[in-house]
Amino acid sequence: MDALEGAEGGESVLDLSHLNLNSVNFETLSEKRRTETTQLHLCYNRLAALPVSISRFTSLEFLDVSNNGLSVLSDAVTGLTRLKTLIAKNNRLDEFSLPKDLSSLQSLEVVNLSGNRFEEIPKQVLQLQRLHSLSFGGNRLKHIPAEIDSLTSLELLYLGGNMISSIPVELANLPMLSYLALCDNRIQSIPPQFTRLHSLRSLSLHNNLLTYLPREILSLVQLQELSLRGNPLVVRFIKDMTYDPPSLLELAGRTIKTRNFRYSEKDLPANLVKYLDLASKCPNPKCGGVYFDSCVRHIKFVDFCGKYRLPLMHYLCSPECTSPCSSNPQSDADSDDDQTVPPDRLQRVLLG
Ligand SMILES: [Zn+2]
Repeated sequence: MDALEGAEGGESVLDLSHLNLNSVNFETLSEKRRTETTQLHLCYNRLAALPVSISRFTSLEFLDVSNNGLSVLSDAVTGLTRLKTLIAKNNRLDEFSLPKDLSSLQSLEVVNLSGNRFEEIPKQVLQLQRLHSLSFGGNRLKHIPAEIDSLTSLELLYLGGNMISSIPVELANLPMLSYLALCDNRIQSIPPQFTRLHSLRSLSLHNNLLTYLPREILSLVQLQELSLRGNPLVVRFIKDMTYDPPSLLELAGRTIKTRNFRYSEKDLPANLVKYLDLASKCPNPKCGGVYFDSCVRHIKFVDFCGKYRLPLMHYLCSPECTSPCSSNPQSDADSDDDQTVPPDRLQRVLLG
């Protein structure tokens, strides 16, 4: 326990990091010191477990146990009812390592479990309502649970360096999210619902398997940084002409919608009214048409920062619609519906 006596820092900070400790016991520490300590640093030791006596730090707000050999975060941690920040990077933790009652720590705002062995984000973590920063970088996550949207206060989510292949649309339900890192995964597409992430300022997508971005990304007005290097982004104009001709139902529906015929449940069976309400507007401003199930996937390049051309994906109502500027000698990659990108918006696009 010499380490405790020689501990540095003010009364509120107890720094026991880099001491090669393989066990620690806080029972011998004075009551006064235990109740006054708000920050406890135990990183870079050789701890295999945390002592039960850790729960005696009744005022603790910050706990860092990174870079140990921890395979379990003991239940005693749930006694730290004032804890706001929990950092346990670079240990051997997995989804079975956390206290079942972790969600009782409702004061937690920052949790960093990067560099561990998690294959899933544990349910207890998804119940921490006040969390505004969550890091699970460098784990073995294969997916993001749909329940991520219960973390409504989340501002930062770091999930880089995992094995995630798809993004749930629920991720778009986080109204405060401003920093999202999904780099170094296996992501093939971004859901167009991302347009709902109104607070998003930084989006890291580098080193994934993206070939294009949803056109909706243009409506993220707060977005200032977008990293895309290390993706197989398509680099030239592409028309994907796999197009199933519209059914007679769709043709009739398109006519009704584009000519603005009025209809109601008095005239039509409920299922047809429902169908008609599902019409999507064709994004070609010169078309004005709609489509239902039959559309053409189209990659369109849009200038960012006057330097980069990003492939954005959208759906058009018909193959004819892929050449909206047929009266214009320029290529349709330069067509005039690019006005949606204010020049001062995206400040950095990192492609290379
Ligand atoms: Zn069209």
